[in-house]
Amino acid sequence: MKRILTGDRPTGRLHVGHYAGSLQNRVRLQHEYETFIIIADVQALTTHFEKPEMLLKNVFEIAIDNLSVGIDPNISKIFIQSMIPQIAELTIFYSMFVSTNVLKHNPTIKSEAAQYGYNDLTYGFLGYPVSQAADITFCKADLVPCGDDQLPHIELTRKIVRRFNSLYKPILTVPEALLGNSPRLPGIDGNAKMGKSLGNAIYLSDSSEEVNLKIKNAKTDTNRILLKDKGNPNLCTVFQYHKAFNSLESDNIMEMCKKAGIGCVACKKCLSNAMNIVLDPIREKRKEYEGNMDLVKEIVFTGTEEIRKHAEETMREIRSAMSIGYF
Ligand code: ATP
Ligand code: MG
Repeated sequence: MKRILTGDRPTGRLHVGHYAGSLQNRVRLQHEYETFIIIADVQALTTHFEKPEMLLKNVFEIAIDNLSVGIDPNISKIFIQSMIPQIAELTIFYSMFVSTNVLKHNPTIKSEAAQYGYNDLTYGFLGYPVSQAADITFCKADLVPCGDDQLPHIELTRKIVRRFNSLYKPILTVPEALLGNSPRLPGIDGNAKMGKSLGNAIYLSDSSEEVNLKIKNAKTDTNRILLKDKGNPNLCTVFQYHKAFNSLESDNIMEMCKKAGIGCVACKKCLSNAMNIVLDPIREKRKEYEGNMDLVKEIVFTGTEEIRKHAEETMREIRSAMSIGYF
């Protein structure tokens, strides 16, 4: 069975962008692929090293988010990055042959550095794509469901794998990215990316009232001021949400908006209904898991223990390929 490695940083709760970008694919493919879901707490520290205490709460929030959208713990494994020290070991080995210039020119690193206002990048932040390559390759993943901000990192991983295989021994798998139906959902503020650290997200855990309110205030085509003005759906955040969560009606909405046949208020109500229909069963499942935190912890603990076996197996192969082993 081929393998999937995918995951999230525990920097906050997951949102509808994650759902459309990656979670939907995880849930759909978990029956065809052996699925490993990483809660990337070390990677979260690259931007949140000053408040490590936030990890404790968020690690389990992320686990619940994954379980409530339909990740089945009997077939998929959820694990915590920092509890697999082999990933850190592999990161160090890779870091010997990855050039810092390649990292400095990585477009996602550049845009995230700008977003966080970093001028002088830390060693850990600049190098997180290398650590991510270790996440993907320690378990020899074939496929990585993710949003399009991850594409430069997957490309780097592919290069690292090829380099390792030619330098030492061809034992690693070259992974492929798999984008979701909305690889970059914009934020309600009109920002090109909905991000859990950006304060512009509709969370999977939001109540229907919160969803209605957020959509009511979401940015639309700013050129459309009056009801009789024709809209441009391609410039409208709300229309991107229609495409991701109301696909059956989105063509019709597009036509109506273009000829001013529907106003923003009605269009937003229609979206809120569609989104709440998707979110309702997720909310139900969340309630069950929130009421049984012991089970959630057990799922993550068991998943992590199992993954550690795979990690040690690969590391033994890697150390041997690199002739590291002295006794
Ligand atoms: P942070 O702001 O803390 O980095 P994030 O919202 O970017 O949080 P991550 O945990 O970094 O979330 O990413 C998890 C996965 O979700 C990645 O595959 C990423 O590409 C995807 N993703 C994140 N935001 C979006 C979005 N707005 N649209 C589609 N996919 C997204
Ligand atoms: Mg991110």
